[in-house]
This record gives sequence, structure tokens and C-alpha cells, in this order.
Amino acid sequence: MRTLFSLLFVFFLSSNFLFSQTCRWQQRVQYQMDIDMDVAKHQFDGKQTLKYFNNSPDTLYKVYYHLYFNAFQPGSMMDWQNRNPLTADSRVRERISNLKPEETGWHQVKSLTCNGKPAKFEVKETILEVTLPEPILPKSVAELKMDFRSQVPVQIRRSGRDSRDGVAYSMSQWYPKMAEYDYQGWHLDLYVGREFYGVWGDFEVNIAIDRSYLLGASGELQNAAEIGYGYEPEGTAVRQPPGEKLTWRWKAVNVHDFSWSADPDYKHVVVRRENGPTLHFLYQPNENTQATWEAMPAAMDRAFDYIQKNFGEYPYPTYSFLEAGDGGMEYPMATFLRAGAGVGTFVHELMHAWYYGMLGTHEGKYPWMDEGFTEYATAEVLNWLKSEGLINGKPDENPHIFTNNSYISYLKRTEEEPLSTHHDHYLTSRGGGVGAYVKGHVLLTQLNYIMGDPVFRKAMLNYYHTWRFKHPNPDDFLRVMERTAGMELDWFQQYFIFSTKQIDYGITSVEKANRKETTIRFNRPGHFPMPLDVVVTFKKGKQKMYNIPLYMMWGTKTAENPDMHYEVVKPWGWTIPEYELTIDARFKDIVKVEIDPSQRMVDVNRDNNVWMAKTAQAENSGEKE
Ligand SMILES: [Zn+2]
Repeated sequence: MRTLFSLLFVFFLSSNFLFSQTCRWQQRVQYQMDIDMDVAKHQFDGKQTLKYFNNSPDTLYKVYYHLYFNAFQPGSMMDWQNRNPLTADSRVRERISNLKPEETGWHQVKSLTCNGKPAKFEVKETILEVTLPEPILPKSVAELKMDFRSQVPVQIRRSGRDSRDGVAYSMSQWYPKMAEYDYQGWHLDLYVGREFYGVWGDFEVNIAIDRSYLLGASGELQNAAEIGYGYEPEGTAVRQPPGEKLTWRWKAVNVHDFSWSADPDYKHVVVRRENGPTLHFLYQPNENTQATWEAMPAAMDRAFDYIQKNFGEYPYPTYSFLEAGDGGMEYPMATFLRAGAGVGTFVHELMHAWYYGMLGTHEGKYPWMDEGFTEYATAEVLNWLKSEGLINGKPDENPHIFTNNSYISYLKRTEEEPLSTHHDHYLTSRGGGVGAYVKGHVLLTQLNYIMGDPVFRKAMLNYYHTWRFKHPNPDDFLRVMERTAGMELDWFQQYFIFSTKQIDYGITSVEKANRKETTIRFNRPGHFPMPLDVVVTFKKGKQKMYNIPLYMMWGTKTAENPDMHYEVVKPWGWTIPEYELTIDARFKDIVKVEIDPSQRMVDVNRDNNVWMAKTAQAENSGEKE
């Protein structure tokens, strides 16, 4: 009984008690949309009924929608962002400037009511500002009804018609989408290029389109037996209704966006996994898709097993890999990929189903929380696929070191901007990319180093379970890390996210203290304090690790490698430039002392990280002859 009780106690402690939810409110939406596509004009009529649940403590006098297609007009803010060589996306540049009227994108709002009363509205480029006929009170539900007509732009960035790969419709950011209002207020980023943030909710989307088109989408097809095209359950006799168009009825539950794509030439491959989800692959079969798209169903099927075990369950019924758009792009329950996408891109976009799809972080404000975390997980998944022989290549002992080193070499060439920069507001497109993808990835490598690998892995799962289907921010994430590791990390946030200070530690001397002891001295030329793993190697090859924590951590990591002697020594105060460690070992027995041999810590100068005994140095140089 006692064992059972303590087990239960530990379970509650780790799953509920420690990670009890903050009572942060979040808004909720229920979309019902009827879309009637005119494929000759590339326009569609839309009827949208939106139930808006105001769970906030605030009375709302206005609401706002995103009208993303309006960005694809000459002279738009997105156009200007791409005319600036520093901030341009290489896929866009002058292309928006050169659009002809029939190639532009637009949304025309014909009518809008709130609870049956007409609402005043004004289009401000990619945002629709709505003045409500009567306020939406706290804890109440409003019904907003909109009739609109939209023109699908030529595919310029992410969404549009006639992609470079020849896909007819890449439909993302394609409908008037309610902006998010949360504890930080409204999020009204005008669309200039970077990414998204949406309200959690449910979507019912009915798309009537010429019957020759095959569709893929976020969500699950509700009328598969009327549609067929591989969506019908095995053995079902498909009975398509007559008429020029078919109406595809989609449903996606508990997501924050809905995307779809359509093409008459799509091939549809379905993988029905025993414990879900069903995977859909839609692509044009040709020489460009042959190499990877043909091989991906088997590899992604296996990848799902590994990912769910290591990063948390995928509870939705479907996930769709759609050949669409202009590069890999993530949406809830689906991704757009190019014809020539490699396995790395497939895995990256799939991992976004966790870091963005389920952990709905604000991609503009905290791009590193989706891109960086996705990159970290992708490196792990690819390494596993290699170790299982499912893809080519030899697995690495640590698949993150390459990214660490490329970050260090970037720092040597370029002055970086703080990671807290909004993705649209970096001075250069390159700087934003490095911040989001590379430094975001490195952030997790640093936490892995600080907390230790087993604790870090547990913390990532705790993060998932604590914050899935919500909108975690950097504080929320670090709070889970702190509680799992039993240490404070505010200093890390201060230095790594809000500053561009760099890490550099060195060994200044290793000397005989007395007959039995040796003194190792360290300095800190860098301005970024970090705990140190110091590994001492002895003559017969034995190694000992000394961990020097920071006072401000108020905790330490536990041993990562059970086979190596591990000792936590006195902490290093961050105002003190030097540190002295006296160890219980004879000087003449020591051959090498090294700071962080794992190379996880992004120390910008590793030349001063190693001390070698004179004899060892001589032997080493002898080897080189
Ligand atoms: Zn990404």
C-alpha cells in the first residue's frame, strides 16, 4: 500500500500538482463557412457564421479580422517589405509590384452583422476593423455573420493560385480570420511576411468546387462516401451527387486555423495508422515528386511513433502532407510542401504540428518557440530515422552540435539582434532567420546542457502537457523548465533572450596545490554567465566531472552519465571574474582538463577551454608526425 501510495503521490506531484494551470482565459471561435469557388475567375463567394466566445473579463466594443489576401496588391506593406533588399524574401522581391489586377488578391466584405444587427466596418489593408452595434460583454457569446467575395492571388508567398510547381490552389490565410485577443490585448500584426497567431476553435468548412479537383485540408472530410478520391473508408461504394461541382465538407476541431489545397492532378496516398492518425499525402506524380513523396508515407508513419513517444501525443484524427505553396509551411493538421521537398522539410513541418499546431505560440512575437523548437525536434527525429535505417545517413552522437557551431560562426561574422525581436521587425531577413531557426534551436541545446539530458527531455514533455491547446509565452515555457529541473532560469532568459551577450569561459592555469591536491583556475572573458561542466582526465583514462553551478540557479543538474564520477562543487557568483577549484587529485596524474567536452554550451572561443599536461602535449604532437 505504501508503495502504491507513494507512486500515486509522485504521479500527482509530477503531472498535476507541479504543473497546475494558471487560470488564464482564452477566447474561442466556431466557424461555419460555405465557400463557392469560381475556378474560371479564381474568385469565391463566402458565407461565414462565426460564434465568438468572449471569455475575457473585458467588454469588447470592436473586433478585428485578418484579410491576408489584401497583402498581394502593388504598394502594400508586404510589397514594400520585399522591395527592401535587406528584408526581402527571395521568393517575392518585385513580384507583388508587378501584379496585374486579375492576379492580385483581395477580400471584399459585402455585409457583416453581429447578433443580427449590421456592424460598421473599415478595411485597413490586411486588417478589418469592426465597430460593433452593441458591445460583447465579458463571458458572453456573439454571432457574427459575414458575406464576402475574394480573389485568389497568383501564388506569391505561401498561398495563391498556380504555384511554381503547378498546383492550382494553395489556400492558406484565405478567409477573413478573427484576430486573437488575449491577456496581452489585440494582436493586429499587418501581414508583411512573417507568421501567424489565431484563436482556438472549431471549423466547419464546406467547399463547392468543380468536380475535377481533388482537395486536401486541415481537418477530416465529413462526406467521404459522396466524394471518394481515396477518402472513402475501404470497401465503401462512392456515390457522387450529380452537378458540375462537388461540395467537400470538412471539419477541424480544436485548432486555430484552417487551410486547404486543390488540384485536378493530385495523387492521393492514404496511410491508415492503427492507433491514428490517418495520414494523407496529396501530390502531382511526376519526376519532381518521385524521389521523396513516394518514399515518405512509410517513413512518416514510423516517425509518428517516435515523435508521439518523445514529444507528446497527436490527438487529431488526420494529418495531411499537401504539395502546395512555395516552401514548407505549417498549418494545424496539415502542411504545404514543394514538389522537391526533402525528408528534413517533411519532418520539420510535421514537428510544427506540435510547436505551433498544438502549442499555439505567437509565431510573430516568439518565432523561436515554433521554428527553433521544431528545428531541435527535427534533428532528433532525423537522427532516429537514420538509426533505424529508414532514411540514408549515419546517425550523430549529438545531432545538435552542427547547429551550435554554425551559430558560433555566425556570431563571429555578424552582429545579432536580441531573440526577443518580433520576426517582422528584424533589420534583415537573414538575421530573423538565424534568430528564429538557429538561436531558437540553440536555446534548447543550452537548456539541455544546463539541466542535463534526462531532465530536459522530461521538461519538454511537461511543457507539451501543460500548454497544449493554449498560447504559451516564453515565461510559461521557462516556468515549466524551472519546475521540472528544480532550478531558477530567469538569468538565462535575461541573457539569452533579451541580450546578445556571448559565452566565453577559459582555463587559466592548472597547478599543484600540495602533494595530494591540484588547483584549476578559470576566467570568464564573455559577459554571459553559465554553469560549467569540467571534465578531468587522468593518466589511466579515468575521468571525473565537476559541475560548477551559478549561485543564481538555486539548484544544480544531476549526473547525466552514471558511469562517470560526478561532483557538484561550490557555485560561481556572476560578478566574480575568476574561479578557483581545488580537487583531490595529484597534479602529476592529470593529463587533461576540459570545459564542456560535450560542446553543447555555445562558448564562442573554445581555444581556451582545454588544458593539457606537458607530457600529454608532447605525446599528442608526436602523434602528428
Ligand atoms: Zn518552420
